[in-house]
Amino acid sequence: MSSPHISLNEQRYVNEAFKANWIAPVGPHIDAFENNLSKISNNYHVAALNSGTAAIHLALLVLGVKRNDNVICSSFTFAASTNPIVYLGARPVLIDSEKETWNMCPNLLEKAIVELSAKNEKPKAIVLVHLYGCPAKLTEIISISKKYNIPIIEDAAEAIGSTFDDKPLGTFGDLGVFSFNGNKIITTSSGGALISKNTSFIKKAKFLATQAREDSPHYEHKEIGYNYRMSNVCAAIGLGQLEVLNKRVEKRRYIYDYYKNKLSEIKQIKFLDELPGYVSNRWLTTILFEEGAVIKRETVRLNLLKDNIESRPLWKPMHLQPVFKDCQVFENGVSEDIFNRGLCLPSGSNMNDLDLNRVIENIKTLHES
Ligand SMILES: *Cc1c(COP(=O)(O)O)cnc(C)c1O
Repeated sequence: MSSPHISLNEQRYVNEAFKANWIAPVGPHIDAFENNLSKISNNYHVAALNSGTAAIHLALLVLGVKRNDNVICSSFTFAASTNPIVYLGARPVLIDSEKETWNMCPNLLEKAIVELSAKNEKPKAIVLVHLYGCPAKLTEIISISKKYNIPIIEDAAEAIGSTFDDKPLGTFGDLGVFSFNGNKIITTSSGGALISKNTSFIKKAKFLATQAREDSPHYEHKEIGYNYRMSNVCAAIGLGQLEVLNKRVEKRRYIYDYYKNKLSEIKQIKFLDELPGYVSNRWLTTILFEEGAVIKRETVRLNLLKDNIESRPLWKPMHLQPVFKDCQVFENGVSEDIFNRGLCLPSGSNMNDLDLNRVIENIKTLHES
């Protein structure tokens, strides 16, 4: 559905790393990768890490989240947004979606904060996800975050290269998270990054990511640390990938438009259009089958599979996951409904028009039969 798409220079930078024997979680490619990522992220400070999940975990740690704290999180997301809250013994409070971007509903967010604060359980942080690359309702959510003085961790794991009011996603919150896993829009095979305007946050994150080793000739430790730094070899891949990020975004947006043009004659299939000021990297093209549609999501998915084409239902909301069934949830039914009717189409930037036509013909033939 979204396979790695390597360009011209990745192999060259990896060879450089081998030649110089920088096969370690330290080295010049990590420094260059952090610099170049900073350049496209408002010159924010950057910590290159070995996963996006590690970045979320460290973000919660630097914000001081502790056992039994409440942490707000988008419910419509991948489990990696929520798991790190539980690593800390804190409690995820899951917030349902609004219909225009499918991301965290600002009304439910404020309701949750007010209700929890009244019980003297004010949430410590907000994990805000931009799903499939589409910006969340940032204006509303940032103003709520300011009103109640609760920091935002922007989970932009799927949204590098997306913008809101011409500003890159990941730079709106107190901390921003990217993922460079193999299925994301650019990849380091496995990897992630934490970014922030705040120098001390990133300094602390790098310290915790290297086993919380104190500055001393011997190994001195005063805190519990983690092994979360990115490998220099992975950073070398990332350097090449960053060079083509804009091209990858362009191609994913082309794929979305292509599907939309060719499939919109089927009236029962709906696309998620962008609101003014919102630019999505269109990591995955997603479609919704209208309620009562003759062709159903699963029929389409299975018919694609018969033709050896992978598609997938949307993320199953966290409040419907067995592992999070005891979490508090502020619900409105939106994400459950979208989950039931939605499908992710093959969206890899290495697909050509013939590949796209194969998917489109498969769906059209099923619709006509
Ligand atoms: C991929 C992803 C993550 C986690 O990133 P990894 O690098 O795979 O650990 C977190 N949140 C969301 C929304 C993701 O899609």
